[in-house]
Amino acid sequence: MILQLQSKYSGMLQQCVTGMLQLIKRVFGTINVTIPKNFSEVKAAVSDMLVPVHEYDVCINDCIIFKGEHADSMTCPSCKKSRYKPEKKQARKKYHYLPLIPRHLQLLEIGKISGMLQEHSKASQVMTDVQHSFAWQ
Ligand SMILES: [Zn+2]
Repeated sequence: MILQLQSKYSGMLQQCVTGMLQLIKRVFGTINVTIPKNFSEVKAAVSDMLVPVHEYDVCINDCIIFKGEHADSMTCPSCKKSRYKPEKKQARKKYHYLPLIPRHLQLLEIGKISGMLQEHSKASQVMTDVQHSFAWQ
């Protein structure tokens, strides 16, 4: 729930999440419930349920991803722009990739979504669009 709030209000800082957890602990401290101490503990608690995100450095002009033969390159071989911000070893631009197959497998583990994805087997033999399934009606 805390992470949903942080996602909904994108400006909500991690320190704010930690402050809310401390408030919750103060209010409900007498109840025997384990409440995470800070944002890191909340994130660690749900990390096993999340699909891993792959993060890559990319050229500022989107020429290449610094991966494979370019994994250690300091500049883009195409446009010659620097990979990192000046005087920092911090990439100027990053690309976040959420692998498709683990994400779909995770969706299939949720009973309701799995049922909706398999709805076509209950419909007529020929389904031309997912919107023709019972779940969408
Ligand atoms: Zn480039």
